[in-house]
Amino acid sequence: ETQTEAELIGKNEVLPLYKPREKFSHKGTFGHSLIIGGSYGKIGAVTLASKAALVSGAGKVTAYLPKCGYTILQSSLPEAMVITDANEEYLTNITFDITPTVIGIGVGMGTEERTIKAFTKFLKTTKTPLVIDADAINCLAKSKETLKLLPEFSVLTPHPKELERLIGKWSDDFDKLKKTKAFSKKYNVIIVLKGANTITVYKEKLFVNTTGNPGLATAGTGDVLTGVITGLISQGYEPLIAAIFGVYLHGRAADVIIEDFGYQSLTASDVINGIAEAYLDLF
Ligand code: AMP
Ligand code: MG
Repeated sequence: ETQTEAELIGKNEVLPLYKPREKFSHKGTFGHSLIIGGSYGKIGAVTLASKAALVSGAGKVTAYLPKCGYTILQSSLPEAMVITDANEEYLTNITFDITPTVIGIGVGMGTEERTIKAFTKFLKTTKTPLVIDADAINCLAKSKETLKLLPEFSVLTPHPKELERLIGKWSDDFDKLKKTKAFSKKYNVIIVLKGANTITVYKEKLFVNTTGNPGLATAGTGDVLTGVITGLISQGYEPLIAAIFGVYLHGRAADVIIEDFGYQSLTASDVINGIAEAYLDLF
């Protein structure tokens, strides 16, 4: 058996990963992020992820939503563009004529039968790097056939319940890591195990994040993380680096915010507002 390597990720470890902006860069330099998801009552998840992708430095962001999300997204986030599905309340056909640099998929998406079908069809044809979260993980976990379509180097960001659907039940933390590493190896994907000490897993390698606090235990913070990682891949970070760096920035943003607001009052939108200071820390 190969030796597991675990690395603690703090400021010293992310400093060499950070890419400053060049003077002659333009929005095309930082890529086009597409955030796919949303359903009736869960359009906020897509808004949060899209805004987080922009704040993390994506050049352009488009949101792909069911029709009911159109006005909500356009009025809450004027910087983003919107493409709508033919259906009103949930996604039924994930096709578009833009060529995004990266796609973040799953936030607020739901698991309607037609959404699962559309997602499976989408996986069969896409060649774009993917960040797979929330209901996209739940859709994946529903069948072995869908799992086989999982593109290599995708970043998956499950919380514990989503992880369980993906890899099955575990007996203890050691077993959980063993099963996660096996999954990562089998499909050649990056898995972000979200929680108090988020661990990014790639094959035998473990990256243990040191930022973040219990203020993050609130609705929408996972959607923000999806946007951050998507925004980083958009501007040219490799998927594994984007996952490690994104988890660090997201946690650091929350640490900056609680200095003024405390744990109880932190919201996912505050985390987005903290990203600027998390970046400034690295200049
Ligand atoms: P989700 O469950 O998808 O909304 O994701 C929740 C986000 O908040 C993840 O990034 C978790 O790592 C983070 N989080 C949740 N609880 C804690 C905690 N107690 N300490 C630090 N981070 C947390
Ligand atoms: Mg989530």
